[in-house]
Amino acid sequence: MKTVILKNGRDRSVRMRHPWIFSGAIDTISDTAAANDARALKCAAIVKSSKGEVLGAAEYSSTSQIALRMLSFGENVVLDERLVMAAVQNAVRRRDDFAAHEKTNAYRVLNAEGDGLPGVVVDCYDGFLVCQLTSAFADANRVLLADVLMSEVPNARGVAVRNDVDVRRHEGLDENDASRDAFEILAGETPPQLIEIYEEPIRYYVDVRNGHKTGFYLDQRAARRSVGRWANNRRVLNCFSYTGGFGLHAMAGGAASVLQVDISGPSLELARKNAALSRLEGIETCEADVFQFLRKCRDEGRKFDMIVLDPPKFAEKRSQIMKAARGYKDINLLAMKLLDRGGILATFSCSGAMTNELFHKVVMEAAADAKKDFAILERTAQDSDHPVPIAFPEGLYLKGLVLQHRST
Ligand code: SAH
Repeated sequence: MKTVILKNGRDRSVRMRHPWIFSGAIDTISDTAAANDARALKCAAIVKSSKGEVLGAAEYSSTSQIALRMLSFGENVVLDERLVMAAVQNAVRRRDDFAAHEKTNAYRVLNAEGDGLPGVVVDCYDGFLVCQLTSAFADANRVLLADVLMSEVPNARGVAVRNDVDVRRHEGLDENDASRDAFEILAGETPPQLIEIYEEPIRYYVDVRNGHKTGFYLDQRAARRSVGRWANNRRVLNCFSYTGGFGLHAMAGGAASVLQVDISGPSLELARKNAALSRLEGIETCEADVFQFLRKCRDEGRKFDMIVLDPPKFAEKRSQIMKAARGYKDINLLAMKLLDRGGILATFSCSGAMTNELFHKVVMEAAADAKKDFAILERTAQDSDHPVPIAFPEGLYLKGLVLQHRST
């Protein structure tokens, strides 16, 4: 275990309960031999102010720019397995309300900073827990974590980890460590090739080995419901459809037609399987680049009554934000032009670097260029099983606007 002393005046953000401390804020690091070393968590540290006050416990990384990620605040520091146990138990309890009103067997069990375990993301698909471990701490304590998950998460059947995450590289964790499979079972049963989940009234197959993230975009659950509510009698175009989520909800919500567009053939194949599994007919799919597809529709004078734009992250870092903004504006402008009067645009950005304000501005400018009036029907964000600490606005990466075209 380590003790880290911050530079004078660099304790402000910790006192505001912000979970990240950058390496530049650190004055000294020393190794502490703890009495209960065998049970001590790996890659963990006690954080102190320059005056020696204990500010809390943190994950420590010697390679990441974010050298410390807070595990707890305040002077009562517990840095053994009890910390992980308490975090998982609290996370499970926090989801009781969610479980009471959501009819689904797929949800986020642990949302990193939002559940007090930075670098640890765990999603549950019908009892199969799939982790993305993106900090040195998360990686080093993975066996303990898997044991705690198996014992504390209701109906847990097995724990697996995806080792193919880009962020691992930034943490100095090998993305393709030869000794590790891209998909590794840490505890319990091995999941089937496709896990069946439901998000009433839709059923999906999730490929937890090859799918994006841990296999599915659980964070868009609330937005998919919104789209289902507004889709009645509308001709719906679902751009960047992945395995079909928004389009399936639209069809179940009474859409006149649904066209799913994605550049990935395998994703569309799963979208077709999901339509059959959900007993929904008449959904079309098209394998295409959305940028080109929207231009083609414009040139052909094709119209829709509802368009969903849920693109991948256009900006990985803040330095890419202007380029990303141009990309968002481009697709939003094109989509707006394809909407008939009264048409609805559900538009999203999952780039953390793109703030709510900037996204709003980009969409507003697209509307001005399209010479059309749009009103906001709804604003969406990640669902409640993805909690975000109030002091950590960086955690609010997902934003969405459901807009209605108001002019002729
Ligand atoms: N809306 C989905 C998630 C979308 S993820 C859901 O709720 O499940 C983004 C998707 O965009 C991926 O499936 C990816 O294959 C696709 N994609 C990325 N670039 C693309 C492009 N230029 N044209 C079409 N699809 C693209």
